[in-house]
Amino acid sequence: MDVYLTAEQIELRGEVRSWLDQAWPPERVAAMERNEEYPDDFYQECAKRGWNGIPVPTEYGGRGGSVMDLCVFVEEVGKTSISLATLYITGTIFGSHALEICGSKDQRDRYLPAVVSGDARFALAMSEPGAGSDFAAMTTRASRLDGERWRLDGLKGPISGAERAEVIICAARTSTDAESRRRGISLFLVEAGTEGLSFERRRFPAMRGLMVDDVHLEGVEVHDDAMLGGEGEGWKNLSRLMDPERLANAAQAVGVAQAAIDLAIEYAREREQYGEPIGRFQAVSHPLAESYTEIAAARLLVYAAAHKRDVEGSCPLEVSMAKTFANNVAVRASERALQTAGAFGYESESPFMRRFLEARGCELGGGTSQIQRNIIAHHLGLR
Ligand SMILES: Cc1cc2nc3c(=O)[nH]c(=O)nc-3n(C[C@H](O)[C@H](O)[C@H](O)COP(=O)(O)OP(=O)(O)OC[C@H]3O[C@@H](n4cnc5c(N)ncnc54)[C@H](O)[C@@H]3O)c2cc1C
Repeated sequence: MDVYLTAEQIELRGEVRSWLDQAWPPERVAAMERNEEYPDDFYQECAKRGWNGIPVPTEYGGRGGSVMDLCVFVEEVGKTSISLATLYITGTIFGSHALEICGSKDQRDRYLPAVVSGDARFALAMSEPGAGSDFAAMTTRASRLDGERWRLDGLKGPISGAERAEVIICAARTSTDAESRRRGISLFLVEAGTEGLSFERRRFPAMRGLMVDDVHLEGVEVHDDAMLGGEGEGWKNLSRLMDPERLANAAQAVGVAQAAIDLAIEYAREREQYGEPIGRFQAVSHPLAESYTEIAAARLLVYAAAHKRDVEGSCPLEVSMAKTFANNVAVRASERALQTAGAFGYESESPFMRRFLEARGCELGGGTSQIQRNIIAHHLGLR
């Protein structure tokens, strides 16, 4: 199943796996989720090992890695925890790709070396209470002040990792002209500690280690040079960011699915009922065999889309197919794993329940499966 991977990618996967197995055993992940312990040392250790530099160009001290490298890395982290994988995706990938797509030279010089060193974590604030799938319906407003400043007012959320991010990429409306619903959106880099910025924790049943927040912007003032990309180009630039975001999401879903099914296989081998391991009952073994196969197919679809993105550039059709397939495979695999573990699986802190809740969460991020199917249908000329 490694047909698409280079020797370096296989080596990276092995290094990440052996570190996570030793540093983040299941008990530690469970404690992080139970106690809402932000995994700062995960992020710092990724920096020390050079992994925060994977998406950063070499001239800024990064590895200049490919989207495929990121998928390999994120799948492995996803096998351990979605809080950890999402921290990496938002903290590292969003920031560096956004800067690569539309950052000025000054912005790249300022932030990219800090991504590599672990000093600048990003969060991406697109969603709002009234603007989720339809994020062009956002109402957060950026108004030009006298001189070279902007004032931001509004409410963004839920936003992953916002309260611990050093920089929030904040999408806001710079024009309310009804004709320019999409063209009226711009992006701003808002640094932690800016006056008028505050957070309210949102509580989900999974991803409790990585904090997810509503972000309040009340008279937040930023300088002109905090604008990321041109005025009114936010929609276009966010659309370009979607390929790596959705592929990373799909890769972490493959990781969750694999971890859930591996747990279930182990459980089905050991748990005995009617005098034999439950895995010997076809009704238990066949769903696991089916999911095992689906996961292998999902991984290949993710690799194929990542490969195309790396070689040919933007490929939203392949990305949406990979994301929706991987998300659905992960929900099905983790649900089957839960059923395999009976009452133990249903306990609120069981690893089976955590994997199921994580798979459901993945399915929402980066555009739901329905939205991905809309994109696929659009490419088929159906909408
Ligand atoms: C844990 C978590 C972390 C998140 N982190 C971030 C983050 O870091 N940054 C960020 O910007 N956002 C984040 N989000 C928000 C996420 O992107 C949105 O939840 C997602 O886009 C869906 O929006 P919504 O929840 O408002 O649902 P809605 O848009 O209200 O949709 C509700 C339902 O209707 C369906 N639907 C809506 N429109 C259509 C349509 N046209 N066709 C078919 N079906 C449709 C949806 O698929 C969904 O099932 C996060 C969400 C969660 C749960």
